Amino acid sequence: FITTAAQAQQSAKAVIGAVRIGSNECWTGPFSEGVQAASAIASVGNRYEPDNEHAKLAAAVAQVEGVTPECILAWPGSSDPLNRAVITFCSPQKGLVTANPTYEQSWRTAAWLSVKPTRVPLTPDYRHDVKAMLAADPNAGLYYICSPNNPTGTLTPIADIEWLLANKPKDSVVLVDEAYIHFAGAQSAAKLACSRNDVIVMRTFSKLFGMAGMRLGLTIAHPDLYKKMMRYDGGQVTNMLPMTAVACGTAVLPLADKIVARRNEMIAVREETLAHLKKRGLKYIPSQANMFMVDWGAGKDPKAMQAAFVAEGVQIGRSWDAYPTMNRVTVGSAEDMAKFRAALDKVIKA
Ligand code: PLP
Repeated sequence: FITTAAQAQQSAKAVIGAVRIGSNECWTGPFSEGVQAASAIASVGNRYEPDNEHAKLAAAVAQVEGVTPECILAWPGSSDPLNRAVITFCSPQKGLVTANPTYEQSWRTAAWLSVKPTRVPLTPDYRHDVKAMLAADPNAGLYYICSPNNPTGTLTPIADIEWLLANKPKDSVVLVDEAYIHFAGAQSAAKLACSRNDVIVMRTFSKLFGMAGMRLGLTIAHPDLYKKMMRYDGGQVTNMLPMTAVACGTAVLPLADKIVARRNEMIAVREETLAHLKKRGLKYIPSQANMFMVDWGAGKDPKAMQAAFVAEGVQIGRSWDAYPTMNRVTVGSAEDMAKFRAALDKVIKA
């Protein structure tokens, strides 16, 4: 390994040579149709946009999601629009409300704006507690819902999101982060986002589509919200995007059968691994996505557990303050997870 165990536990840096099940990446790359489309377009990479690639991507998304192309914007991943939403809709007067634990990137952007995020515990069955989220800050600028949630992999039903929309103030915006939705096969909030002017749905190709390093994400929202989000750069995201990623994304998005097959492959491996945890007497949070939280029990330090796994050649994920005895583990390939189970058996005996 190029890093020591101590270095690996301190950062999200990949431990090269280890089984990489720490960052919620896909265990495999883009579908072959996407790779072919990306390599074909590389030869005309002298053009900013060789042949209306943005419009082709928007048309593909519109077709698959049943929304209009005007609601769709492409990004280099979903981190940038997430930051932009916080910057646009939050201020020291207009707060940010999220679950706890959840994907914390919005907290860091909020801190930069001097906005104190309100963090609301998940319900006992690990949904976003939308009623408590609204009660905690009834006049927030942004309510962030991550479904399936990172790190728990649990879904928040559309009915809960609809409740929040029906009860929040008119000018508050709800951001639904659906980074892992293809792994869950669950109902999306995309149609809600396109039919109202106070919901943004965020998608990424970094997860099921296996394109984390290629960088492609999407937002689905009313054009009025985009006008607000794009104020400081004249509305130009166009030239941010590598055409290889756009062409790849356009080619893979409609491959419904392959998407289902990849999801089912992940579910089989995830359930086999969770059954193993159960056999070993370990608790975990049941998940609908390509990750799960494993609970080592009282007195166990997740950083020490990460280091113990790295010593066995397996890089598992980090912990969250809300669940101080758990680590997040990404579901890798069948082979990756066999190595995880073998490492686990050694680590818990040590
Ligand atoms: N949202 C969630 C919930 C994530 O877990 C991640 C990455 O792990 C992102 C957004 C950002 O991913 P990307 O910028 O690769 O689209």
